[in-house]
Order: sequence, then structure tokens, then C-alpha cells
Amino acid sequence: MANNLLKKEADLRSKLIEGDLNYKVFLDIEDGAKYYKGQIEVIFNLSKDSNDLWLDYWGEKIESLLVNGKKLLFKIKNDRIYISNLKKGFIKIEIDFISKFTNMGVGIHHYYDQNSKENFYYSNLCPCDAHRIFPCFDQPDLKASFELKVKCLKRYNIVANYPKKSKEIIEDYQIVEFDKSQKFSTYLFNVCFGDYKKIECKSSKIPMSILYRKEKEKFVDDDRIFHLIKTAMDFYEDFFSCKFPFPKYDQIFVPEFNWGAMENIGAVVIREEMLFEETPKKSERFSRANTLVHELAHMWFGNLVTMKWWDDLWLNESFATYMAYLCLERTGLYPDSFEYFSEEVKQGAMFEDALSTTHPVVVNCEDTDSAFLNFDAITYLKGASILKQLVFFIGEDGFKQGLSKYFFKYSFKNTCLQDFLQEFDADLQEFSKSWLETCGTNSLEVTKNSDGYSLVQNYGGDLEVRPRKFQFCSFSKKDNFNDKNKQTQYLKEKQINLKVGHKDFFYSNVGDFDYVRTVLDENSVDYLILNLSKIDDSTFAILLHNSLYQMTLDRKMSLNNYYSLVMSLLESSKYPKLSVSALTNLVQFMNWGLLEEKKILLKEALLKKLTENDLDLRRVIFASLVQVSSKKDYERLWDLKTLDWLNKSDLKRLYFKLCKSKFNKEIIDTCFQDKSDSGKQFYEKLKIKSEKDKEKSWGYLIEDNGISDYIKGEAMGGFFQKDESSKKYVSKYFDFILEIMNEKGNIFQKRYFSSLFPDCFIDESLEYCKTLLKKTELHPSVVRQLSRWRDLLDLRKKLLE
Ligand SMILES: [Zn+2]
Repeated sequence: MANNLLKKEADLRSKLIEGDLNYKVFLDIEDGAKYYKGQIEVIFNLSKDSNDLWLDYWGEKIESLLVNGKKLLFKIKNDRIYISNLKKGFIKIEIDFISKFTNMGVGIHHYYDQNSKENFYYSNLCPCDAHRIFPCFDQPDLKASFELKVKCLKRYNIVANYPKKSKEIIEDYQIVEFDKSQKFSTYLFNVCFGDYKKIECKSSKIPMSILYRKEKEKFVDDDRIFHLIKTAMDFYEDFFSCKFPFPKYDQIFVPEFNWGAMENIGAVVIREEMLFEETPKKSERFSRANTLVHELAHMWFGNLVTMKWWDDLWLNESFATYMAYLCLERTGLYPDSFEYFSEEVKQGAMFEDALSTTHPVVVNCEDTDSAFLNFDAITYLKGASILKQLVFFIGEDGFKQGLSKYFFKYSFKNTCLQDFLQEFDADLQEFSKSWLETCGTNSLEVTKNSDGYSLVQNYGGDLEVRPRKFQFCSFSKKDNFNDKNKQTQYLKEKQINLKVGHKDFFYSNVGDFDYVRTVLDENSVDYLILNLSKIDDSTFAILLHNSLYQMTLDRKMSLNNYYSLVMSLLESSKYPKLSVSALTNLVQFMNWGLLEEKKILLKEALLKKLTENDLDLRRVIFASLVQVSSKKDYERLWDLKTLDWLNKSDLKRLYFKLCKSKFNKEIIDTCFQDKSDSGKQFYEKLKIKSEKDKEKSWGYLIEDNGISDYIKGEAMGGFFQKDESSKKYVSKYFDFILEIMNEKGNIFQKRYFSSLFPDCFIDESLEYCKTLLKKTELHPSVVRQLSRWRDLLDLRKKLLE
């Protein structure tokens, strides 16, 4: 891989650059061109004479370079421009360069809409792709002020981080100049231009707008989005005692985006799938709101105050994650926000924390390639879970006061873990050591002994015991656990004796404040399998289910018991949201090749539940039915396509399952008609699955053929099927890993591992993973991704035993 910046190099460079760093950037975008010209002035003070200062640059060509008006010697190596003979003091570097648009969703991505003949451009630079656009010091602690000027077609809408200052029209072109910005990190730079439509908010404190493609116009629910952002902004300003720090807030919905969204200062880029083309499930609506307010939280966490280096990525991501859930709950927009938190954040965190690839929340990050890998469940989900425990430890008032001091002191600056900890009145060193700087999850279990009951803390990765605060309750079955005998407990030791009111059932994490695996005793498990839906508190029922699911993954509860639990939940129809998660987990187990013998029973049960009242649950029932059906059910499944409540995404599941069957031609013809973006993407995926010539499909996915990574990423999911023609390609998949390691970018690699991995061939893939991992020359990022798959396949095998 190309320019990988090491932490120690970044440290040295920081020491060389003093005072205010300023970039004056001009980008010249010619209509229809593959490349764009640019000029940059980089102004700073050099702290001492230097022979090896470099600018990062991964563009096409440097046309000229002047230092303080003079030509100096420079050389280009490994995507860096090294300049020799620099003298201490004022430095102005002027560079003319040529860079290239990409189709990978990084740098400046260009999307051409063949239907409308329109062009859309957006930049995406996290964690370190600003130097794909212009030469710069591409590291987070070298914050700079930006003065940006762009020349592009005059019909284009254009936005960047700061508001427009002036516009000049020259024939078909416009030259737009933007206000000089306050200091921010290069990865937060943004510019978007093209045939975007724009809606402005008429009632916000600061200017806000939404940009989108005309094709998506009827799906833009601007009132709802503006209301969400305004409400969340008021909440954050109050919670942090710190005003929104930037002069405007634009949200740009773009095609072919690699992530959910990106929090560029004042110009958040969002994948346009979040403009819903059909009625979304409640969970999808929640998830979008969550993403949008997560990005808004970054305007404080990450943008106003930024981590010094990627070690402290958690200061961005853990906080934005936790604050988004808190915001949605407190503003009343989603009162059940923390139910989603328990399910998505806690469960996701514990799953990842149990794998050998886990890492501490505050991580030692050697270089930018590893930084890319740390945008993961530990940084986002475990970090947010630990923050929930922290707030319970020190109280919300203490948390708010600490944050307010932190923002006041470090606005427009950079921080690390210690800077953060020191702003709190409480001494957080021990907390940090136990929770943020080590790996693993403890479990808590109630045991009966001769003196009564004890609560025991068991092994949790790096530490046997962690200091924790939680709510312990004992319950009586008689009233379905409604009489909560709640006690707040601190546990610093391995175990404590308990005074219990009721003796039927205990739960040591009511309210879900602790980050812990709660192990239930055998009697409680037996009772809950059949009676979980009798519990009147939905949040508590969700929590109990999570514990049971976790116990199943940990092989402390049998898969058959989990199956019975799901059937009992479906039977009662009391908690549709809970049933959705439980059924999804169950089908996941079946996709892993487990519980094969229950498939027929489940299928029959699901067919009967297709009239279920709750539409979201009905959709998940349909999707599950599609997944567990076998070849002999295809006729019956095909007939279901006329159910009037099915939407496009439901039908896609059906089509994908049934393509390559006798309905193949009809499916392909139907899908060919859908010329929308997501339609084309799905059509490619279907084609890959139906294609008889596997070699041709393989070439299509791997070779550079101008098809965007986004389309290929989706199509990859169609390649490996559990049949003989796919099996031959398992070895090819692993052979090719060395090649992509050296020749393809991070995004392609991530897709190669996540979407194309042949996990349907458990034994073969596991063997290949193990063999490949013995090679010494593997890049750490490849080791991490292969090890993760090895662990996942191992887990599946253990569950099968
Ligand atoms: Zn984020």
C-alpha cells in the first residue's frame, strides 16, 4: 500500500511546524475532464533548519514548486514530496499540481448519472486521504486554516466547509471563493459540487441546507431532517455548555458512498440510501436519525477538539456514538433509544471483544493503515458502552461539567487521553486503566453458598477483576418480575455477599449501566425461555434476551433452548421489536449451518405468521422464510411475491434466493427494468450469482475495469454460493490476498474481506486462513482481517459440536 504515515514520523513533523499553518487552495474543475488542476500555498513557521521535511501527496503530477519564491530541490518518493535545504523561520511553499478524480469513494469521487447525464462530485478524506487532492501535512494534529477557491461549471451547486464569500462568473464557469476557516484537521476538509439540488432550512439559528440528486427529490423528507438536527443541536449546546462551533451546517446525500456518513466540518456527506424510497422499518428510521445526530455530535467531538493521533480515535467515535443515543432519548425523539443501545452497541461490542483481534479502546496505533482498521466495533461500540459505565460511575452532572471544561480549554486544538481525564473532578486513572486501556469483558454470576448468596466476577480478558458500578435486583416470579428490589452496587473485588429480597431470580445489570456478560442460573433460563414475553417491562425483556443470546454464543445455553425462546416470543406477539431481533439471530445461526434439523419446523411456523400485525416483524418473518427455504419450497416461495405489503427490499431477497432456479429469466428481466442506482447495483449482484462462467465473474470483480468499488462491493456478495463451481474458487480467493495486499487500496481490501470471503465453506476457508497466517510477510491489516475470520469460523465450528 502507498503512503502509510507512521506515528513517529508524524511526531517529528509536528515538532518542525510552528505557529499558524495556513493552506490557500485553488481547484480548477474542467467540464468532462478526468483530472483537475490545482494550486496550493502552504504557509507556516519552521522551527529549525531541515533537509527532510515532506508534504504528503498521492496525486498525478507536480508541475512546479517554489519555496519563498525560489526553486528548491525536491524529490518525490512513496507519495511524498521531500524538500531539502529549508531554513528556519517563515516558509511559503507554492505548488502547482494535477490530481485525478476517483471511483472509489475517496479523494474527490466522481459519479456520472447515465440516465440524467448529470455529474456529481464529493470528497471523502478520512482518515488520511486529503493528500489525494492536494499536497499537505496529512495528520490530525497539524490543524490549519483553509482558504479555498474553486472554478467549476456555473450551473453546479457547490458547498465546502465554510460559507461562500464571493462568486465570479466567466462564461460557462464560476469561480467561488469560501470564507477563511478556523483551524481544523485535513481529514475534515470537504468540497462537493455538481448537479445537486438544494433545499435550505428557513427556521434555523445558523444556515442549514440539504443537497441531493434530482432523482431522489421525492424521497427528501427535509422537514423531518431539519427538525431532527435543530432539536439535537439545542440538546448538545446545552449538554456541553458550548455553542455549535461552525458558521453553517450542510448535509449532502451522495451516491456510491462507502460509509454511513462523514462528519466534515459544516458539510456532512451522507449515503443517499438514507433518503428512504419506501416506508422504512422503525429500526431503519432510528438508525438514520442516529447516524445524523452522531455526525452532528462530531462537530464538537472530533471537529472542534480533535485527537492528536489515531491512538485516541475513541475521543471522536466512542463519544459521538454514546451522545447520539443519549440525544435521541433525552429529546424525546426516540424514547426507546437505549433499548437499541443494549441490543446494537452492547451486543456488538461484546461479540468483537471476545475475538483475538480485539484491542483496547485507547489503542497504540503505529500508522495510518492501522488507524483505518480501528474504525471498528471496539472503538465505536465498546467505547460508547464504557462511557455509559463512566457516566454511572461519576454521575451525569460530573460528566457534563468535565465535558464543558474540556471544550472550553481545547477548542480548535488537539488532545489525548490524559488531557481528557484531567478535566474531571473525579480521579479517573484507575477507571481508565481498567476499562479503556485493557481488552476483554468480565461476566457476573450469582452463586448460592452456605451463608446465602454471592455475586462473583469472572475472568474478563486482560483483567481478572474490574471496578464496576451497577444495579442489582432480585425478583419474584409471582408477579412476573415487576417488584424490583433494586440496589446500586460497587464491586471492586472478585466477589461480594448479597442481601437478597426475593429469591426466584436475580439480575445484576438492571438499566444496563455495566459493560458485562450477565450469566443467569439454570432455573432462570428455564423459566425465561417460555415466559420472557410475560415480563411487562419491554426494556427489561430486551436486556434479558440479550443475556440469553450472549449465553448461547458462549455455549452456556443450548441452541435448542434459544430456538424454543424464539418460538415462544413469536407465539405471544407481545414484543414485536424483541421478536425481530431474536428471529434475526436465530436465522443467523441457521445461516452458519446450525440447527439444520429445526429448519422445517421454523418454516412452517413462519408461514403461519405472515399475517402478523406488526409490519416490521412481518417483513422480518418474510425475509427469514426466504432464508430458511430449500429448493423444494421454491414454487411456494415464488407465489408469495404478490403479497401486497412487500416492498422492493423484501422482493430483492426473494429474487436473490430464487435466481439460478427456473424463475431466473423472469427475475433477471424484471430487475433489468430497474434503472435506479440501487437497482443497477442489485442487478450486478444477481448477474454474478447467475453467471455460469465463474472466471468471467471473477475477472469482473477483481480487474480494473472502470466499474466503481461500490457496485463491485455489492456484487461480491453474489459470488460464493455453496456449490461445486464456487468451491474451486476458494483457493483462488486466498492466493489472491497477497496481490490485493500490495496493489489495492484500503476500501477494496475491506470489501474483499467482508463481502467476498468464502465463509460458506467453513472447513476449507478455516484451513486456508490458518496456513496463510503462518506466513511472515503479511501486512498487519491483512493479519487482523484473516485472524478475525479464523475466530469467526472457529466459533461456528464450536457451536456445531
Ligand atoms: Zn463517527
